[in-house]
Amino acid sequence: MNGANTVQNTGKTSNQKRLPVAPALCRFAQIFEEHGKKAYLAGGAVRDILLKKKACDWDIATDASPQEVMAMFKTVIPTGIKHGTVTVLYKGASIEVTTFRTEADYRDGRRPERVEFAATIEEDLSRRDFTMNAMALSLPDGRLVDPFGGALDIKNQIIRCVGSPPERFSEDGLRPLRALRFASTLGFSLEAALLDAIKQCLDVTAMVSMERVQSEFEKMLRSPRPQTALEAMRQTGLLKLLLPELDACVGVLQKGYHRFDVWTHSVLACAYAAAQNMSLEVRLAALLHDIGKPETARLNENGVWTFYNHEKVSAKKSRALLSKLRFDNQTIEKVVHLIEEHMFHYEDEWSDAAVRRFIIRVGEENLEALFALRAADSAGTAGVPPDPRSMQEFLRRIERVREKSSALSIKKLAVNGHDLMAIGVPAGKSVGIILKLLLEAVLEDPALNTREKLLEIAKKTMENKLT
Ligand code: ATP
Ligand code: MG
Repeated sequence: MNGANTVQNTGKTSNQKRLPVAPALCRFAQIFEEHGKKAYLAGGAVRDILLKKKACDWDIATDASPQEVMAMFKTVIPTGIKHGTVTVLYKGASIEVTTFRTEADYRDGRRPERVEFAATIEEDLSRRDFTMNAMALSLPDGRLVDPFGGALDIKNQIIRCVGSPPERFSEDGLRPLRALRFASTLGFSLEAALLDAIKQCLDVTAMVSMERVQSEFEKMLRSPRPQTALEAMRQTGLLKLLLPELDACVGVLQKGYHRFDVWTHSVLACAYAAAQNMSLEVRLAALLHDIGKPETARLNENGVWTFYNHEKVSAKKSRALLSKLRFDNQTIEKVVHLIEEHMFHYEDEWSDAAVRRFIIRVGEENLEALFALRAADSAGTAGVPPDPRSMQEFLRRIERVREKSSALSIKKLAVNGHDLMAIGVPAGKSVGIILKLLLEAVLEDPALNTREKLLEIAKKTMENKLT
C-alpha cells in the first residue's frame, strides 16, 4: 500500500490514513462485521506498527459485549470478564477482545473499582495512558483512529499523557513507571509536564503493588538503555520512593579510585551491561553492587575514602531490596552471589590451588557472569569501555587450571558418600564433612583424585578422629 506506515501529521482522528492489516486479522474482524459489530486493533500493537516493529500481541477493542463475542466464536475464554475482556482462540492465535470501556472510581491508585462500557472507540481510547498507546486501527479497512495525536508524538519521539498528566497519574500510580519504562525501551523523551506530574503523584505510586512495580522495573533494566529510566527516576523522586538504597548513593564521593559518585558509577555500569546485552542478573548486580558504600564510607588519615567490606553490605541490602520487589529466589541468589564476589583481585603469584579455590567459591556456572560484572564495573569507573586485555591473563590461567584439575566439585571426586559409608564412615553429617576434606585435598593436589588415594585419606581421617 502506497505510503503505508508513514506517520500522519495530525492531532485529529484520521479518516484517510490507512495501514496494512494482516490477512488473518482481517478475516477475524469480518466475523464481527457479519454480526453487525465493529472491531479495532488498539493500544500497543498500533504503536508498534507505526514504529515498524513486530507487534507482540493483538488487542482488539469492540462495541460487542463479552457475551456477544462469546457467541460469535467457538473457543472463547473469559480471561478478564470483570473488565470486559475475553480471549478468543482463532486459527492458532489467541486474541484478547475487550468491549469499549471507560474506567471510573480509582479509589486507591491501583486499579479501577468499576468498569463502565463506552459507546465509541474514541471514548475507549481516551482512558488509555499515553497518546502513542491511544490509537486504533479500524478493521478490516486499516483506517487509523488517532484522536490525541499519537502518530505525531511517535514521529517526534515524545511520550505524552492523554489529557492532564496529574489527573491521569492520580488515577493510576503505575503510569509514571510505564512512562519511564517506555522512555527506556523506545528511546523517547518525556514531556516536561509529565515529569512534573510524577513528582506531584508520588503518594499514588506508593500504593501500587510491588508485583506491578517489579514488572516495570524489570522491563526498564532489560531495555537497551536503562539509564534513561533510572535518571528520570532520580529526578522525579521515584528512586527515593522505590529504591531508597540507590538514592542514598547519589553524591557519595569516592575520589582516589573513581571519577564519579557512587550513583553515577552504578548507572554507568548498568548501562554498559545493557549495551553489551548482558543478562538481567548482571544488569541488576551492576546497578546494586555498591549500595553498601554509603554505610561503609570512611575517610582515612590520607584524606581518601575507603569502603571496607562494602560488598558484604551491598549483598545484604540487595537481597532485602530484591525480595521487597518480589524478584524470584533464583534471580535474587545469583545477583547477591555476584555482588558478594565482585571484589576479587587476581595476582600472577596465585598458586594453582588458590585459582581452584576461587573457581569453587564463585561456581563454574557463575564465572562468565562475574567477569561480565567486572567489565561493567570497570566501564562504570572509567566512563569508557574496559580494556579487554585487563582480565585476559586471569581468564587464561583459569582455563589452564580447569584443564589440569580433575575435580572442582564434590560431585567430580573419585569417591562418593556410598563409598565412604562402605569403609565405615557413619551415615549423616560425617559423610559430608569428609567429602569436603577430600575436596580440599584434591584442590591442593589434583593427583590425589583417585579412588584408592581418597579412600586412604578418608580412612586416616577416621582413625585420627578415633584416636
Ligand atoms: P507492551 O505490551 O509492549 O508492554 P503495551 O502498550 O501493549 O506495551 P499493555 O500493558 O499490553 O502495554 O497494555 C495494552 C494497552 O492498554 C496500552 O497500549 C494502553 O493503551 C492500555 N494501558 C495499559 N496499561 C494502562 C494503564 N495503566 N493506564 C491506562 N492505559 C493502560
Ligand atoms: Mg501489550
